[in-house]
Amino acid sequence: MTTEVMCCPRDGSSLISPDNASKSVFSRNGISHCPTCSGLALNPEVASSEICTQKLDAIHDGFKDEGIPVDICCPFCQTGMKVRDFAFRKIDGTLTELIEIDGCPNCASIWLDSGELQRLSPPSGNTNQNPSSEAGALAIVLDFLLHLPLVFV
Ligand SMILES: [Zn+2]
Ligand SMILES: [Zn+2]
Repeated sequence: MTTEVMCCPRDGSSLISPDNASKSVFSRNGISHCPTCSGLALNPEVASSEICTQKLDAIHDGFKDEGIPVDICCPFCQTGMKVRDFAFRKIDGTLTELIEIDGCPNCASIWLDSGELQRLSPPSGNTNQNPSSEAGALAIVLDFLLHLPLVFV
């Protein structure tokens, strides 16, 4: 396990890593979060959930040959990331709204801007959340999404 500090690809804040169990409640799926923008970084190597790992592998396949290069670097390996749209198939057979996922074509990590998950999460009625608790709420949404079938669009 590396002790390197990872930085948010959007604003350069130090990400709260899942290793840091006293600060992070998202350790089980290897989700790091940004304390500034609530973005979430998923590292497949530390994902402890089998479902999560398989889903990240599937997402990674979608970034090997496709996706549009973007101007941000992978927080884990500094490779230039790519972006593409994904949706998840809900239990009733319909698709969720499209979400933009930034993926690393090298190490299979993914980055999610908080706004992408906010569009899919039910309104919390709480407009006063700090970025860390916001990230906590979004991690739960993401955890749920990763159990649904993934659709490339
Ligand atoms: Zn950030
Ligand atoms: Zn990477």
